[in-house]
Amino acid sequence: MSEPLRPDICVIGAGDGGLSVAIGASAFGTSVVLVERDRPGGNRLGSVMPAIGLSAIAARAEAFRTASPFGIGGAEPEIDFKRVKNHVLEVVDQLKRNDAEERLAALGIRFIRASGQFADRQTLLAGDVPIMARRFVIATGASVPAPPVAGIETVPRLNYGDMLGIGQRPRHLVVLGFEPTGLALAQAFRRLGSGVTVIAAGRILDAFDAEAAAAVSRALRREGIDLREGARLTAAARRGAHGVRLTVEEAAGTATIDASHLLLAEAPRPETEALMLHKAGIAHGPDGIGVNRGLRTSNRHVFAIGGVVPGHGSIQRSELHAALVLRAILFRQPVDIGRSPAPLAAFTDPEIAQVGLDEAAARRRGAIRVLRWPYSESDRARLDGRTDGFAKVITDRRGVILGATIVGAAASEQIALWSLAVARRMTVADVADAAFASPTFSEIGKRAAIAYFGRFARQPRGFLGLLRLLG
Ligand SMILES: Cc1cc2nc3c(=O)[nH]c(=O)nc-3n(C[C@H](O)[C@H](O)[C@H](O)COP(=O)(O)OP(=O)(O)OC[C@H]3O[C@@H](n4cnc5c(N)ncnc54)[C@H](O)[C@@H]3O)c2cc1C
Repeated sequence: MSEPLRPDICVIGAGDGGLSVAIGASAFGTSVVLVERDRPGGNRLGSVMPAIGLSAIAARAEAFRTASPFGIGGAEPEIDFKRVKNHVLEVVDQLKRNDAEERLAALGIRFIRASGQFADRQTLLAGDVPIMARRFVIATGASVPAPPVAGIETVPRLNYGDMLGIGQRPRHLVVLGFEPTGLALAQAFRRLGSGVTVIAAGRILDAFDAEAAAAVSRALRREGIDLREGARLTAAARRGAHGVRLTVEEAAGTATIDASHLLLAEAPRPETEALMLHKAGIAHGPDGIGVNRGLRTSNRHVFAIGGVVPGHGSIQRSELHAALVLRAILFRQPVDIGRSPAPLAAFTDPEIAQVGLDEAAARRRGAIRVLRWPYSESDRARLDGRTDGFAKVITDRRGVILGATIVGAAASEQIALWSLAVARRMTVADVADAAFASPTFSEIGKRAAIAYFGRFARQPRGFLGLLRLLG
């Protein structure tokens, strides 16, 4: 056993959350040890970027295929799958350089490649190196498990990152699960010419507004994806040298699906097993490590952030947690995870982006207003021929913005405004006052906000209220 290291901060896990804490803390001259069992980059570089990269290229194929109403092309695009993959691999490799071990060393971070496990309340073991840090930050994320069904261990299974390693375009890809990135990949492979089936035990995109999720279901089906919502995988077996045979229970009965490739896309499960949390007195459950609103665990020297914390994980949530923990550790400021909700986005086409309360959650809370505007009323959407979708803004009775959902083109770009609005408790009048570039998709959200004043315009006394609200 070597001499113990005694840094100010020890971060476990070098995904987005862990890297943000380590790099941020070292920039303030704090001594940092970063323990990672693999290469730095975590799920963002290993899974998300390859998936979104493939999806971006597939969108080009689809644009080509659907351009004839605008007087362009009309032919089926030729797809060279090897070149598609190589392009994405090249871009992801460039992104990896930013988080390389050499760069971390140059920033003064001591990087240890080992699996971390607690030995007691104050000590983490990274291989045979004991680390007794003033504060620990657990950022070990979450990973997609194989479902517990008969035969699953015997069949070839892929995760998101593996999709760039397969030799040929899948003849028939089965996506098991209904997480946003799995659906984006399902759509990408369909657009690149594969047959695609999605087996979803519940409704797809269940973290999103139901009406918005239904718009994505319709689009996926329209593109020829065999989307089986409410279907449950009960058995898996090998078929031939590389294929898989799946047995599925559905409302209509038992079905057999033969696939060339099987992608696991069920909800990720927090990575806590290897950490020996009980030795450090850190409470946890199947959903992850319990934290208070300041992200502290039941051991007050230990914080937990990102995918390992219960809730819907996302890159932006891990980064937000990292920023809050840095404030708590370095500046001893009180922080509160409830103050700035992280937006969620699904990079399907149409995209969905959502922040704060959705309509169902807001209705459960009582008096609210739901303001809507359809893409079909937007100049920009009509010019682009992308009129599917809507923006929905949720406010309280006084017009304070509680949440927003956008489904349609560029939804993930538009949600930034609404994240700010929810975090700062802005009102619809604040948004109505702001000038937006035109013609743009972001005007759709503004139109939804202005719809709040529609009822005032129809009532003379209310009209005076409207003038007051607009200042
Ligand atoms: C398949 C998938 C697709 C997703 N798609 C999106 C998306 O499109 N957009 C989005 O915003 N979010 C997406 N998410 C969620 C998002 O990727 C994660 O919530 C976020 O990246 C988590 O960041 P993190 O730093 O908390 O953990 P991670 O990025 O998971 O990093 C955790 C790191 O800890 C390491 N580790 C684990 N245990 C130990 C240990 N005992 N010792 C040392 N190291 C350890 C792991 O090797 C890993 O590098 C997706 C998640 C999954 C699983």
